Amino acid sequence: MSRVDELKQMLGPDNVLTGADVESYVNDWRGRYAGRALAMLRPGSTQEVAEIVRWCVAHKVPMVPQGGNTGLCGAATPDGSGDAVVISLVRMNKVRSVDTDNDTMVVDAGCILQSVQQAAREHDRLFPLSLAAEGSCTLGGNMATNAGGTAVLRYGNTRELVLGLEVVTADGDIWHGLRGLRKDNTGYDLRDLYIGSEGTLGIITAATIKLFPLPVAQCTALLALDSVDDAVSVLSHARKGFGAALTGFELIAGNCLQGVVKCYPQQRIPFEGESAGKPWYALLELSDSESAEHARARFEEVVGQAIEDGLIQDAVIAENMAQSKALWHLRESIPLAEKAFGKSIKHDVSIPVSRMADFVKTTNAALQAKFPGIEHVTFGHLGDGNLHYNVARGQAYTEQELLERQDAVYELVHESVHQFGGSISAEHGVGQLKRDVLPRYKDPVEIALMRRIKSALDPHGLMNPGKVLA
Ligand code: FAD
Repeated sequence: MSRVDELKQMLGPDNVLTGADVESYVNDWRGRYAGRALAMLRPGSTQEVAEIVRWCVAHKVPMVPQGGNTGLCGAATPDGSGDAVVISLVRMNKVRSVDTDNDTMVVDAGCILQSVQQAAREHDRLFPLSLAAEGSCTLGGNMATNAGGTAVLRYGNTRELVLGLEVVTADGDIWHGLRGLRKDNTGYDLRDLYIGSEGTLGIITAATIKLFPLPVAQCTALLALDSVDDAVSVLSHARKGFGAALTGFELIAGNCLQGVVKCYPQQRIPFEGESAGKPWYALLELSDSESAEHARARFEEVVGQAIEDGLIQDAVIAENMAQSKALWHLRESIPLAEKAFGKSIKHDVSIPVSRMADFVKTTNAALQAKFPGIEHVTFGHLGDGNLHYNVARGQAYTEQELLERQDAVYELVHESVHQFGGSISAEHGVGQLKRDVLPRYKDPVEIALMRRIKSALDPHGLMNPGKVLA
């Protein structure tokens, strides 16, 4: 019997895809990586995942776990050998249980993030993880990448939202770790090892996640600003004024908004005149636990003061939920609207917030000195010190010319990030994209410890090989 036939016998023929059917699972979202696979497998239960892993170990077949395949660093794409199987969790998409007294929910790893948010809302709770890919990405992928998104400022990264895990180890054992405890000091934190491991240590099959009260009211505003310095000052002002009620602070360069309306003419920049052409904007969100009136009064006081202080040049405050959604939609459309700039060189970096303005000025100037006319496409989660510091060809270069300069641009930006005490991967992960530069920017002892963890937990070296560590 062929290997594929054995797999079909194990999972049923409909759950083993081969040939042209695997095409969309072996290419990444950005179209940057193209791989091949022996098959794409769709297990329906944790037991089936464990059976697959044991079969792969017995046959020395590499495994690539996959969720929604929306990752941005090639971590869910197999290599070109065609030896690996892609293991997609998307059939494992049930909410297993909800405990409202404990404010927790146990969810299969293949659940789409938007369905997880919806399930929480049905129990009058908030699951705050939110990102533009939430209609397609899965909770498993979110955990494996320790995804960030737009609410990290208040609720933390995915790591902070997970209390327990169920994992199929790289040997095919099942770790039943679905504890819903907020305190548990009983040894090494395996949960935190698997979270952010990008599928290189095992396959997460379910999680116990934290739920929060739904905000009673929210206020959203788009602020027109003169500089990143001003944005940082407004952030500090808003933190002081709103405390834990500050739930979003996104920085957007003016040309990103122009790109959105160019790609999506049904959207509009909600400013007139000079304010419509500002170099920077910030999207500010407050979530209030009292009332709409209370939220509005707090919001107007803090924003009003920042206007008086000359930090904000203009502001549009959403009057209702539809307007608030429209403002968020502008922000969330940026990754897709980046095509307005042609292919770009992308950096997902973090910098201490206090050094952000300097970082942008210094790095922009260094790039312009070396590549005159190159275009900066900058946006991100300023509240978390996370920028998507992307670089496009502008009028000065063709796509091919930009591609030829790609490695030099990466190096310049990464060096600058390093000098400013930042990280070359804030929230997207390492995958294949940053694997080879990682040792340059991490402590050698840290890399050596990571290698030892990898060989201890994945002794056969079959779990997503070639990702994170070379
Ligand atoms: P995949 O892409 O399928 O996989 C990603 C990694 O996780 C791979 O290493 C894979 O092997 C591993 N993996 C997947 N499932 C499992 C599992 N069950 N067990 C073990 N390993 C697994 N990311 C952010 O952090 N913040 C953002 O704001 C953000 N915005 C985005 C906007 C757009 C438009 C797009 C396309 C992407 C964005 N991303 C963002 C990146 C991406 O959505 C996240 O990385 C997401 O968490 C990936 O989830 P996924 O299910 O698609 O995972």
